[in-house]
Amino acid sequence: MQKNKKRVLIIEDEKNLARFVELELKHEGYETMICHDGRSGLDEALQKEWDVILLDLMLPELNGLEVCRRIRPFKQTPIIIMTARDSVIDRVSGLDQGADDYIVKPFAIEELLARLRSLFRRLDLSDEHTQIKQTVVTYRDLTIEKENRIVRRGDDIIDLTKREYELLLTLMENINVVLSRDVLLEKVWGYTPEVETNVVDVYIRYLRNKIDTSSNSYVQTVRGTGYVMRS
Ligand code: CA
Repeated sequence: MQKNKKRVLIIEDEKNLARFVELELKHEGYETMICHDGRSGLDEALQKEWDVILLDLMLPELNGLEVCRRIRPFKQTPIIIMTARDSVIDRVSGLDQGADDYIVKPFAIEELLARLRSLFRRLDLSDEHTQIKQTVVTYRDLTIEKENRIVRRGDDIIDLTKREYELLLTLMENINVVLSRDVLLEKVWGYTPEVETNVVDVYIRYLRNKIDTSSNSYVQTVRGTGYVMRS
């Protein structure tokens, strides 16, 4: 999928450097904007959405550390500090103020581009990680990860058919609720209650064969009514 162009805010008072970085970034497909002082940079940082902010430290009106410090309570936009002074104290203070990375001037543009790619790769990875975050349903030592439909007993993965899975999930999402055969048929098979209900009993047996152990039985039969998992 083609992603939207990444937007980069450049806060840098050395106009030639700012212009050079901007041209290179545009050439690489980034959208850019330049601010030449800390005050206007801070305004832009707070008012618009940026994918990353390149922030010089020695800036007129408001220095870079201060800009960084004032952005952080409001926005988590990644910030890469550009510092001419390769001093540990600057880097540490920058990172203390919430910057994500720093690059020492003068830098090769390739190094900056590499830092940006690496930053966006990290962010994309954490996005993906968020997307596949699982909703987990648990009952005793059984767990179901809903999004990837994995059922575990302890650390063992239990291989269930689609119906068995739906049946188990329905029971586990209704702990202590006695589910009649009719209700289970409707929820799991989508049948109307006219259909013979012993299919439920058959599948409960299949399910028990797979999940039960010699010492553990998970699904209780409520005679004349249906089935339940009790906490
Ligand atoms: Ca400067």
